[in-house]
Formats: sequence, structure tokens, C-alpha cells
Amino acid sequence: MSKEIIIGNSIGFCFGVTKAVSLAKKVLKEKKLLTSLGDLVHNPLVMAQLKEEGLRVIRDISQARKCPFIIRSHGLPPDVLEELKKYTDEIYDATCPFVRKVQNLVKKLSEEKNFIFLVGDTQHPEIIAMKKIAGDNCIIIDPIKKKDFKIPGLKNWAIVAQTTISLDLYKTTIMKILEKMKAEKITIYNTVCPVSITRQNEAHSLAGKVDALIVVGGKKSSNTTKLFLIGKRVNKNTYLVETPEEIKNLKLEKFKKIGIISGASTDVDCIRKIIKFLKTIQRKKNTRR
Ligand code: SF4
Repeated sequence: MSKEIIIGNSIGFCFGVTKAVSLAKKVLKEKKLLTSLGDLVHNPLVMAQLKEEGLRVIRDISQARKCPFIIRSHGLPPDVLEELKKYTDEIYDATCPFVRKVQNLVKKLSEEKNFIFLVGDTQHPEIIAMKKIAGDNCIIIDPIKKKDFKIPGLKNWAIVAQTTISLDLYKTTIMKILEKMKAEKITIYNTVCPVSITRQNEAHSLAGKVDALIVVGGKKSSNTTKLFLIGKRVNKNTYLVETPEEIKNLKLEKFKKIGIISGASTDVDCIRKIIKFLKTIQRKKNTRR
């Protein structure tokens, strides 16, 4: 029996990552040097390529001294942006429009005296920036760590999610907040980006149709790890691979139907290489018969 490979409909870079990578490449072509605070995208293969072209990852904003600087798709906290302007006046903004929309929402909610529940990863740069925009009347609720929280005094509450969070985890966390509801009014915003929702739905449905599911993407990527966890819940033979080399270590010969999906910061070239490898094992199997 031959192997069937089913490729997800939404693979490769999302809209926001495409924008960030194209802008970085354009600036690098012209200037030969560009700095970013942390990895521009959470994908080691894409980062290796950009570094070859001249991207320099800095850990402290002061290292951007007089160099062109790119703001990642996750955005920057306002105080960091102000600080950055002291070191360089050449700033390229690749903040994803979806992230920007949530930042503006959080700013408005804060100005309107809402207490904001930010549901997301406490260590993620997008959430760190949102927290700074929101100010004191805000708490980050990590849906995985499920930390308890003190009931705020403000009458109006608002719940907002990280753009790449799992929609299921967001719904569960909302229920937990509602259990403690002491507010007069509570407003829930679905701020999970449409790209994340589409890919999460696809991970769920494809995982149920195949013998094994391969999620291609960076292990530090928030949206990729969510896809992996969703796939794993439905199909225990779900694997997260970062590079085409990693797939060679998986014992995939026994699976007849293999699904492939990817995180939003995965280059299609990497996915093509994985498909090529899967076809090779299929050919070898046929030759042995
Ligand atoms: S996953 Fe969504 S929010 Fe994040 S960069 Fe891509 S389009 Fe923007």
C-alpha cells in the first residue's frame, strides 16, 4: 500500500511574518546591516538565512546604537520604543496589523478604566508589550500555568487574548475568570488572529484523519507549539519538527496516511524538503517489494 501525504491548506509564512521577513530582506539588501531585539521570527532556519544576509540579534536596546533596527511582528512596549529612539533614528516597523489592532484596543480599554485580563504567555514579547500599554489595571493570566488571581476593584472588566493562543485554552480561561465575576460589566474580545484560528482548526481536523501528523515549525514559536498540542490531543502520533533533518529520525515507515501542517513562521521551502523526504521513503519501500 502506498503512502498518502496530505498537506494542510494553510502552510508557510502567515501574513505578518511575510511582511517582517520581506521588510528585513529589503533593508538588508540596501544597508547590509539590521538589528532586531531578539529573534525576528521564531524559526532557526529562517533566522540563519537572515543572519547570513546581515541581521544582528541584540539582547539590549542600547546595542542598536546608530544601526538600522526592525520592530518584530510582536510589537514593542512603548517605553522600549522611546528608549530605542535615543540610540537610532532608523527604525523599521514590522508590527503585525493584527497585533497593532489588539494594542490599540488594550490602550482604549485602559483609558476607559477597565480592568484588563490579558490571557497569554507571561514571557511572550507580544504579551509583555500589551501589559506595558495596559498599565497597572491589568493582569496576565497564563492559561497553561493557571495561576490564581486577586479579584480587582474596578467595576468593568475586559478579557483579551494573545493573538496566537489556542482558542480552546482561551475559552477555558474565560470560564475560570467568569467564575470569579464580581464586575458590573464584563466584555470578552476574541483577539486570537484569524490565521491562528484557521490553522488550529486544521490541526484538529487533519489530526483526526491521518495516521500521523507532522507539525513543521520552530520549537520556540508560540503558534507552532499550540498546533502541536492540538494535534497531539487528537492523534498521539503527532510530531513537531523544526528542520528537514529531524524528520529522518522519526520512524514514519509504518504510517500509511501522513498529514503535514506548519506554524506561521515556517518557510514553505522547509516543508517542501520534508515532503521530498517522505516521498523518498515511500519510493524505497516500493523498491524493496
Ligand atoms: S500569527 Fe497572526 S498575529 Fe502573528 S504575525 Fe501571523 S498574522 Fe500576525
